[in-house]
Amino acid sequence: MANGYTHDTLIIGAGAAGLMAAIFAGRNAQPPNQVAVVDGAKHIGAKILVSGGGRCNVTHDVVTPDDFAGSKRNQIAKVLKTFKADDTVDFFADLGVDLKRENTGKLFPTTDRARTVLDALLLAVDKANATILNEHRVTAVSRRDDGFVVRTQQGDLHTRKLILATGGKSLPKTGSDGLGYGFAISLGHSLTKTTPALVPLVLSDGHWLTRLSGLTTDVELAVASSTGKITRRQAGSLLLTHFGLSGPAAMDISRHWIAAHNIDPGTKLLINFLPGRTFEQIEAELVALTESHGGAGITSLLYDYVQRRLAHTLVADGADVDPTTPMAQLNKPQRRAVVKALTALPVPIVRDRGYLFAEVTAGGVPLSEINLSTMASRKCPGLYLCGELLDVDGRIGGYNFQWAWASGRLAGMSAAIG
Ligand SMILES: Cc1cc2nc3c(=O)[nH]c(=O)nc-3n(C[C@H](O)[C@H](O)[C@H](O)COP(=O)(O)OP(=O)(O)OC[C@H]3O[C@@H](n4cnc5c(N)ncnc54)[C@H](O)[C@@H]3O)c2cc1C
Repeated sequence: MANGYTHDTLIIGAGAAGLMAAIFAGRNAQPPNQVAVVDGAKHIGAKILVSGGGRCNVTHDVVTPDDFAGSKRNQIAKVLKTFKADDTVDFFADLGVDLKRENTGKLFPTTDRARTVLDALLLAVDKANATILNEHRVTAVSRRDDGFVVRTQQGDLHTRKLILATGGKSLPKTGSDGLGYGFAISLGHSLTKTTPALVPLVLSDGHWLTRLSGLTTDVELAVASSTGKITRRQAGSLLLTHFGLSGPAAMDISRHWIAAHNIDPGTKLLINFLPGRTFEQIEAELVALTESHGGAGITSLLYDYVQRRLAHTLVADGADVDPTTPMAQLNKPQRRAVVKALTALPVPIVRDRGYLFAEVTAGGVPLSEINLSTMASRKCPGLYLCGELLDVDGRIGGYNFQWAWASGRLAGMSAAIG
């Protein structure tokens, strides 16, 4: 190319956002402008392949800014409205991938195979005349004249426009190890604190709840400050494991517990095993049961409320009450301890499981540093950013991919025509 450029638009990172950027940069580029996407991985798309349990939860039928955290809702909304969930459905249908809606609202390919999604994206990149350069790990980027030098294991590349789509730090073995944050910083950006998100939570060693490993139950989790103020609630399914808490409810609340705990180490996580019911309601019911079924053991009375194994353990370990005690013999503090174990059990979270087990990264480059009509950097001309690298993380349900599709498309299109 003229002026010593090897490319007109170069994208670093061939994940969901980078592949989308490559497709839309390629489709919108004026020939002979060259578009390429470089990635350190030998095999492209590892994270797409493991997503959604190998089925790839491509998007959700309803996507709103409230499904995300990190940057401000109105900033996130600006990008989401450029490419909605329906647009994702149409886009994939055009690529020959039909999506089906499950009763949770999650959308998956009808084949139930993430490979279908990845193969379609790779073919679309090719059809858009964009090139994928795998095994091109980038080690540094710098500005040169009105373009960029991208240093890779295979030598330097020179590009007029640069799109950073390097993802976050979750599942680092897929190639997303956080190096891209350094590129953004070296080009003038800042970074909000990054932490694992959608990550299981670890209970103190040998905690009695871990003996219920494998048990799944609907709960409402709450993050409470050291003064007792509830700052976040999350309803959903909880999976108890040998180390602590997993399943959608725990994963969804994890980033909120981590953020609160970083500021206030006295932050607690409370479990309500009777979602939608309050301490007062359950206490009133147990008082009534004392009158009608006073001779029955407390644990057996709870079988109508929670699973048997759980009832036994909540009474014995959560409330420290002999589980065979007849209802009528419970004194008031004991009855209230049982009600508390059922509706507001504080659990000692000692840490999260870290990036190895996190599905996304919270934090990143703030959207305030991005022109949200184009995904262009406000700090560095010619630079565009998209995907998980930015300070946006969604809850479980296809929202993170929707963010990647929307922001990647906008970045690719804008870089090509900008
Ligand atoms: C186990 C798991 C399951 C998930 N399931 C779902 C799901 O079903 N639905 C959903 O919406 N979300 C899901 N997610 C989240 C979703 O996968 C991510 O949010 C999304 O893939 C982010 O896309 P991205 O392109 O921004 O980043 P990434 O997918 O992380 O891609 C970044 C790419 O950049 C490359 N790269 C990084 N640094 C360099 C460098 N220095 N040089 C060259 N290349 C580099 C990496 O190799 C990688 O290919 C899941 C995540 C995990 C870990």
